[in-house]
Amino acid sequence: MNELDSELVAGRLAQLGYAMTREAGEADVLLYNTCSVREQAEQKVWSRLGELKRTKKTRPELVVGVLGCMAERDGSDLMKRMPVVDIMCGPGELDKLPELLDNAVRTRASLAGDQSASQAALQGNTSRRSQTLAAAEDRLELLDLSRTISPVDPDGGHRSSYVRITRGCNKFCTYCVVPFTRGAEIHRPPEHIIDECKRLADAGVVEVTLLGQTVNHYRFEHGASVAVGGVTQPQKGRTYKGSHHRDAFAGTSVTTFADLLHQIHEQVPGIERLRFVTSYPRDFGNDVLEVMRDSERICRYLHVPAQSGSDTVLRRMNRGYTVGEYLEFLDRARQFLHQPEIGRPLMLSGDIIVGFPGETDEDYQGTVRLLEQSRYKNCFIFKYSPRPGTVAYDKIPDDVPEVIKRERNNHLLAVQARIGEAIGNEQIGQTFDVLVEGLSQRQLKASGLTNAARKPRTIEVTIGGSAVATAPVVDDADQGDGTVQVTGRSDGDLIIHFDVDNAAHAKSLIGRIVPVEVVSASGLSMGGRLVSAD
Ligand code: SF4
Repeated sequence: MNELDSELVAGRLAQLGYAMTREAGEADVLLYNTCSVREQAEQKVWSRLGELKRTKKTRPELVVGVLGCMAERDGSDLMKRMPVVDIMCGPGELDKLPELLDNAVRTRASLAGDQSASQAALQGNTSRRSQTLAAAEDRLELLDLSRTISPVDPDGGHRSSYVRITRGCNKFCTYCVVPFTRGAEIHRPPEHIIDECKRLADAGVVEVTLLGQTVNHYRFEHGASVAVGGVTQPQKGRTYKGSHHRDAFAGTSVTTFADLLHQIHEQVPGIERLRFVTSYPRDFGNDVLEVMRDSERICRYLHVPAQSGSDTVLRRMNRGYTVGEYLEFLDRARQFLHQPEIGRPLMLSGDIIVGFPGETDEDYQGTVRLLEQSRYKNCFIFKYSPRPGTVAYDKIPDDVPEVIKRERNNHLLAVQARIGEAIGNEQIGQTFDVLVEGLSQRQLKASGLTNAARKPRTIEVTIGGSAVATAPVVDDADQGDGTVQVTGRSDGDLIIHFDVDNAAHAKSLIGRIVPVEVVSASGLSMGGRLVSAD
């Protein structure tokens, strides 16, 4: 979600004459798009802001902005603690960023070092404030609609894009800050989403990932929509009980998630791969599974966080399902979608939190069992850390000792590594269609390059400067023997590397879907052999 927000912000700023820099040191404006979900990510931002104190002394005109969850949650406290920050802009107010930036740039230029003047750019929170929510939704929809879509670069990169379909979340898991920072769940009109997909396809994008915190909750009621200023407005989400039948929400006035997937698949054939994240384990109907099964360009991949294998812990987390219900869903998904005989096995990934308050050894053993039964190809495993602004932070004492959390975390990582390796080995000899994304990590290292050259995490912009050309990474690559290693993903999200004979050949494959036979497996990735490609 943050990556898409960064792209939208960068696109909007480019339209206004700002240009990206390659290095942070060259920028007149540094914007950090933050995430509060994990403590580690937040610590990195604090440390980067700390480092800027010295820079600001020599370059008082430098404008520093914090966007995203931290800005929403910490508000003026963050500015007090870190006076280097000139702009704060929560995820619900990104449309206002150009104005804030313009204000801060002018203020900095004329009153270098005068904090009181630049702090005029601070904006308050709007999430879940009923009187401003509707207006914020409208403005955010316009930000999505104003997305700049440029043709993909000649190196073949940028063939994958995100498209938001739902904003916010209504779940209120007790450990999570998202419902507070991103606001209530609202759904974008399907015609806007389909139009965005068409524009992306026309620009050369071949893979679209639909985004939502609980993406399968998507549901748009056409009768309830109101056109304001010629734009159909997004709708607030409703809590509903999922059905296992395709026409549970049928009717001319409702577009369900299954309908949306079907419509994109049918109306935008240029999108050769359609995927979505993140799925919520409850309310996932057979209607969606049927559309996935019957649509050849929808990926056989589901990211479905379980978070724990203990009903007691799940209740305390307010997740709204039991372990039994979670596993029932995975079984059902496999019945519909697991078809290794036609080269389309269903691949799953998950999220687990260990050491949630009150987690006993027995609870933890339940999580180990869940991992064994779920057989994720990969799983994001985290130690619980209380996040300010959440229910758990205020009301549930963090009582599992750090040493136990670490032990469980390491043990679970080892269990998952074994499962992932077994799944990898099962794929040896299979041929998959692989979307070639670019040079592999090994190749980038061998060529003295990093992915950061292509994909900066900080948004670094210069005022009135010229756009930075994409680094010509492929032309210069080889492994010393002339061969070049590229990497890509199968439709089940398996990461597969393979060698090609030279840089020109690598360049011709990037952005294309080609058949690759898996010949080895190790860790999270596999080695392959290009079968044929015209
Ligand atoms: S479903 Fe729970 S964990 Fe996911 S975004 Fe919503 S509140 Fe957070």
